[in-house]
Amino acid sequence: MGLLKVGTPLHWKDSLEHCNYVRHHGVLQFIATFRRLRHLENDRLFYGDEIEYSLLKVEKSGKRVFLSLRGPEAMESLRGSEQDIHAFRGCTWHQEYGSWMLEGTPSLPYGGYTMSLASVEQNMRLRRGRLLSALKQDEIAPTLVTFPLMGVSDFVRPAAPPGGEASQSDFVPDACINPHPRFGTLTGNIRRRRGSKVDIRVPLFKDEKTPEFATEEKPMVHMDCMAFGMGCCCLQVTFQASDIDESRFLYDQLAVLAPIMMALTAATPIVKGRLAATDVRWSLISQSVDDRTPAERGEAPGTPDPRLAGNGVRRQSKSRYDSISTYIHPGSKGYSDIPCEIDEEMESLLLKEGIDETMSRHIAHLFTRDPLVIFEGHVELDDDSTTDHFESIQSTNWQTVRWKPPPMKAHACSPHVGWRTEFRSMEVQLTDFENAAFTAFIVIVTRAILVFNLSLLQPLSKVDENMERAHGTDAAQKAKFWFRKHILPEEADDLIQDICPGQTPVTPEQKSCQFEEMTMSEIMSGKSCYFPGLLPLCYAYLEHIGCDEVSFRRLDTYLKFIKERAEGTLMTPAAWMRNFVRTHPDYKKDSVVSESIAFDLVHACNDIGLGKRDCPEILGEVFIDPITPEGQYETPLYGERMGPEERRGLLNKII
Ligand code: ADP
Ligand code: MG
Ligand code: MG
Ligand code: MG
Ligand code: MG
Ligand code: MG
Repeated sequence: MGLLKVGTPLHWKDSLEHCNYVRHHGVLQFIATFRRLRHLENDRLFYGDEIEYSLLKVEKSGKRVFLSLRGPEAMESLRGSEQDIHAFRGCTWHQEYGSWMLEGTPSLPYGGYTMSLASVEQNMRLRRGRLLSALKQDEIAPTLVTFPLMGVSDFVRPAAPPGGEASQSDFVPDACINPHPRFGTLTGNIRRRRGSKVDIRVPLFKDEKTPEFATEEKPMVHMDCMAFGMGCCCLQVTFQASDIDESRFLYDQLAVLAPIMMALTAATPIVKGRLAATDVRWSLISQSVDDRTPAERGEAPGTPDPRLAGNGVRRQSKSRYDSISTYIHPGSKGYSDIPCEIDEEMESLLLKEGIDETMSRHIAHLFTRDPLVIFEGHVELDDDSTTDHFESIQSTNWQTVRWKPPPMKAHACSPHVGWRTEFRSMEVQLTDFENAAFTAFIVIVTRAILVFNLSLLQPLSKVDENMERAHGTDAAQKAKFWFRKHILPEEADDLIQDICPGQTPVTPEQKSCQFEEMTMSEIMSGKSCYFPGLLPLCYAYLEHIGCDEVSFRRLDTYLKFIKERAEGTLMTPAAWMRNFVRTHPDYKKDSVVSESIAFDLVHACNDIGLGKRDCPEILGEVFIDPITPEGQYETPLYGERMGPEERRGLLNKII
């Protein structure tokens, strides 16, 4: 999230009369940007990750753990100290939806050399170290997707009763919402547009004595506000493309990988104090910000309201937080085979202004949504010099990938930013080793796709099917995912021979059945000889560019780790946490994550992240070098990992 506008947001009933204006001018602002910057070319690869953290407060005596609503305070202090530290590379801290959350990014994006890939983990560790220094004695900040006791009785500090004007939740106090006026308004306006509180249902995990299963066939965990969803923490990676065409191409390719990488990073087995029958966060968030009217959801006829997008009655097949509904590269024709509602008026405006069909469709799809936060006195703007209305719609279309046009320069000397694509589906991992491994992997995969001229494209209906499968427990081990069999270009025989010696060329008949169901391991490591697998392609890329030895050693550790997780030799964080709960002495086989279990779990997760507790089930033979406040014992940028002796020595010093 960039800088937030400061001002007074309009209440829903006052913003209604401006919705059409904002949408119309948002599109005009996009057109102006597109025209001005479509010819940018030869931009360098830059990329950056985003990691979200949860601030927790622990009460050792009673073995209790709470959300600590000190996010904004901690952020102020972190921002202050960042200014005092003149490191070669620092971190930037951003606000997040929850007042217990923080988002950290590198202060500058990483550059496009493989050496930079080694600095990703270094920067993540620095962030974790700096965050440690901003914590109070009784606080911890693990990287968990969900807080296990979210919405369970008395779970925040300072204590507050549930509900409030914005969410009207029966479980979660509005004090959990970041105090910046944007967030409360978002929450309230989603509810108001929808006409009722959001209604989130996540299937409950069936254990031997889960009581609900005695009376119900498919019991659900019920949640009723945005914080349950937008309070989930994730790992995102943004890439700068060399030009607009490449950014559109990568968007499509990454959209295919979104469900795969979500399943592989699964880390959400617990919601609202219960074990869920799912392992990832997506559907929960999707439901938590679903602002569609009953008519748009297809549940009841509605009365058209001309002030709303689509008069508030146009059927919308998805929530505004969902997988993408259309590819955006011109070469994807024929693959966008699912419903993609568009605003016809906006589409004809875009086409009339010379925007190509595929792009017009994407923008006209985003603009079927209404603006949720309009600031007072900030409606009529100069469409050539601001993109605020465009961003207002764009930033509240939370899809698996986001195509980011260059922002308006704040000053003449602001750094140049090109066309970017953001990968948004991965779940945050317990350790920076894992977070860095997945970041590096996705970077290398995109490079391999570009250099070897690969295409992962498959029909969006299959991508959505994968999205659903990715939710299942242990999907990385148990599920099969649709994947394209022939991802190499026709002329890539050399490469195929390199990776898969002795392979016979593919016949046209074989090519005609292009997609098949593969296991995670097959997708990553290859299947018979027609599909080389993503990891061998990563290695081929590293060899192709002549990756230096030191970087290679580190990247090799990442790729091996991913291979083992895909094979099921290593557990996903979701599988590990579920197992932790089910084998805890206090567990009653009833799918309940009690206070004492939650207490032990968050500590274990925190200790794993800090390198104080080994976790071979998730990490195999990788050990996390201990994290220290401010990162003062940090090994040099390109240093090797610590040996066991060195690690023990450091642990003794800091514990
Ligand atoms: P948002 O929250 O809108 O996704 P952020 O401002 O949090 O965006 O930044 C997302 C990531 O993009 C950060 O890791 C940042 O370092 C990175 N980034 C910044 N500039 C560029 C750029 N020119 N190219 C690629 N990534 C960039
Ligand atoms: Mg961000
Ligand atoms: Mg964001
Ligand atoms: Mg964020
Ligand atoms: Mg982001
Ligand atoms: Mg969509």
